[in-house]
Amino acid sequence: MDEKVIRVLCAHGVPEDMVRRLLEEVGPVEVLSSDNEEEIIRVIQDKDVFVVRSKPQVTARVIENAPRLKVVARPGVGTDNIDKKACEARGIKVINTPEASASSVAELTVGLAIALLRHLYLTCAFLKEGKWAKGKYTGKTIEGKNWGIVGFGSIGRRVAEIVKAMRAEVMAYDPYVPEEEFGRRGVKRVFRLEELLERSDIVSLHVVLNSETNGLFSEEVLRKMKKGAYLINTSRGRVIDQNALLRVLKEGHLGGVALDVYETEPPQNLELLNQENVICTPHIGGSTEEAFLDATEILVNKLKAFFQLGGGIPIGY
Ligand code: NAD
Repeated sequence: MDEKVIRVLCAHGVPEDMVRRLLEEVGPVEVLSSDNEEEIIRVIQDKDVFVVRSKPQVTARVIENAPRLKVVARPGVGTDNIDKKACEARGIKVINTPEASASSVAELTVGLAIALLRHLYLTCAFLKEGKWAKGKYTGKTIEGKNWGIVGFGSIGRRVAEIVKAMRAEVMAYDPYVPEEEFGRRGVKRVFRLEELLERSDIVSLHVVLNSETNGLFSEEVLRKMKKGAYLINTSRGRVIDQNALLRVLKEGHLGGVALDVYETEPPQNLELLNQENVICTPHIGGSTEEAFLDATEILVNKLKAFFQLGGGIPIGY
């Protein structure tokens, strides 16, 4: 085996254009036919790079069976399907492309808010059945509302920019972001999640999934939201306890909920999704042509920089 050749394994479903660019600019590529762990273990033995989506699970067992592996690369943001401890223990670099999809996810978040506040899904469905529902569904504007952002990273900040332009009052909760990031963007910082929930008419979630944010929106926390407020989650499904959300919704505490992400995907709890004031999309936040193009470009560049193939941008820029 030529030790200098960089061999790439791509997960099932990695876009064809990305596979082609990796082949042209990094090295020979093999594409998995499924997310099956046994198949991964069988073919990862001689690979230097594993390119994944939000699936499959890159487990400690996969890492143990990948003696040459140097990089796990995720075009996109979430790396929660990758056992990062196992990677770190072996000195394997985990690369992602959070720069690529912030606008796509932020725009979907705002689009979902408009869809909720203006009853777009219901009025459209009625009209397709020939029912003219004008008058029955009076909407609300984003202008003048208090919009609370939980998690003030790349996506949260982009949402803030958009909804400020729509004349919402924006506040954000993120204990890990320096003070100046809030002031510079004209966003009010709140130091307690409860304060944000008590004051917001619309709450959007943009936290990473970790042990602290897993189940952060418990029944107790959901009940702290203002009565009639709207909740939008385009971050990760497990940030909200979805059984608790169903109970709180059924009691009429919330005005509406929009979900792009679920505890398990595809979601199992269709009772929640079938509530009249719930709108849902199948994890499409980052699924735009622009985000895919940017992710490909950034990922290929980061890999080239890592392997010093020339032309790549420095890693971690
Ligand atoms: P980011 O890392 O830039 O920002 C996340 C922020 O969460 C950080 O500022 C961090 O300080 C904050 N945070 C961490 N723990 C917190 C806590 N306990 N309370 C409040 N804030 C906390 O990430 P991003 O690129 O903005 O992505 C945000 C989320 O969106 C992630 O969960 C990501 O997986 C998800 N995402 C979803 C889609 C989609 O298709 N729906 C696409 C891309 C990203």
